[in-house]
Amino acid sequence: MAGSGKTTFMQRLNSHLHAEKTPPYVINLDPATLKVPFGCHIDIRDSIKYKKVMENYDLGPNGAIVTSLNLFSTKIDQVMKIVEKRSTTFENCIIDTPGQIECFVWSASGSIITESFASQYPTVIAYIVDTPRNQSPSTFMSNMLYACSILYKTKLPMILVFNKNDVVKADFAIDWMKDFEAFQDAILKDKELQGETGMGSGYMGSLINSMSLMLEEFYSQLDCVQVSSATGAGFDDFMKAVKSKGEEYNQYYKKEREAALKKKEEEEEQMKKQSINKLMKDLNLKSKVKKDNGAESDSSADVISDLEEGENDGIVYPDEEEDDIAQPSREYTFSEDREMGEVNDNNPDLQAMYQEAMEKTSKDISSETAENIAKYIRG
Ligand code: GDP
Ligand code: MG
Repeated sequence: MAGSGKTTFMQRLNSHLHAEKTPPYVINLDPATLKVPFGCHIDIRDSIKYKKVMENYDLGPNGAIVTSLNLFSTKIDQVMKIVEKRSTTFENCIIDTPGQIECFVWSASGSIITESFASQYPTVIAYIVDTPRNQSPSTFMSNMLYACSILYKTKLPMILVFNKNDVVKADFAIDWMKDFEAFQDAILKDKELQGETGMGSGYMGSLINSMSLMLEEFYSQLDCVQVSSATGAGFDDFMKAVKSKGEEYNQYYKKEREAALKKKEEEEEQMKKQSINKLMKDLNLKSKVKKDNGAESDSSADVISDLEEGENDGIVYPDEEEDDIAQPSREYTFSEDREMGEVNDNNPDLQAMYQEAMEKTSKDISSETAENIAKYIRG
C-alpha cells in the first residue's frame, strides 16, 4: 500500500546486496515517484512522463499510472531482452512498483509485466506491510485480504514483510496469524468495528468465522519477516526467505506453470487476446488536436517524443547518489528498435503507435485480435 515503505525497502535491499557483494539488477516501475533514492538500470520514468500523461489525457493520478504502465508494457519484450542479456552478471533483480499497487496488480499491463518475469525467472512477491499502521485488527484484516487477493491474482510465492519494525514490532500481528482465536478476540473488541451496537454476534461473527478458514489457508502459504528499512534490521532474514521461496517456485510453481501451459495452450491464447483487448480498452485515449482536414486527432503524441528527444534522452541519473554504492549504468535506449514507440511529425497518431507496438511485441497476435485492435482504434 502507498507509504508502506516499498521504495525505502528497495533502497535498503539494494545497499544490503551491495554490501554482500552481490549487486542486484534494479528496475523502477513507479512512473509517479518524484524521487528514486537508488540507482536503477531501468526506470519507467525515462520513457514515460507521468505528469504529461495526466495533463494530456485529462487523467487522475491512478488513471495516469495505468496508462503509463500500458505504454511501458508495449515494450516489455525489449525490457526482457535487456534483462536476459545481463542475467549472468547478477543473482537478483529487484523491482519497485507504483505507490497505488492496485493500479499495477489489477491492470492488464501489470499482468503482462509480472507474467513476463514469472515465465522466465523464479519470481517472488514481497508484500510490504506498514506495521505501525496495522495495529488495529480491522485494518490488519483488510490488509491481509488485499495481500491474499494479490497472491491469488499473481499465483506467485509471496513474502509478507512487516516493515518499520524500528517503530513497532510486528509480534502482535504474527500472534494473530498463528492463533486465530487471539485475532477473533481482538477483532470483537475492536472499537473501530464496534460502532454503537456492538458486533459480538450475528452477521459479523459468522463472517469472521468463515474468513478464519480462508485466512489460515492463506497464512500457511506465506513466509513472514520483520524488517526496518530505516535501520537495515531483518534483511538477512528477508534474503533467506527469498531463497526458500525461490526454491519453492522451482519445485512447485514452475511445475504447475509448465503443466498448466501444456494443458491449456488454447486457453492461454484466449487469455492473451483478452489481455490485449483489455489493454486496448484501458488505453481508451481520445484525441483533441485538429488535423488539416478538420478531423480530430491525437494531441498527446508529444509524450513519447519528449522522452525520445528531450532533456532526458535515454539517461536519468539517480536523484540521490549513495556514496558507497557503485551506480549502475542506465539501460533504456532500446537501440535495436528505436523508432518503436517514438512519435514524431510523421507519425502523430498515438493510437496507431500502440497498434504498431502491440503488433511488434506480440508476434503471435492472431489476425482476429489484430482486427479487434484495428476496430477499437477506428471506433
Ligand atoms: P512507498 O510509497 O511504499 O514507496 O513508501 P516510501 O518508501 O516512500 O516510504 C514512506 C514513508 O515511510 C517515508 O517517509 C519513509 O521514510 C518511511 N519509512 C519507510 N520504511 C521505514 C522504516 O523501516 N522505518 C521508519 N521509521 N520509517 C520508514
Ligand atoms: Mg514508492
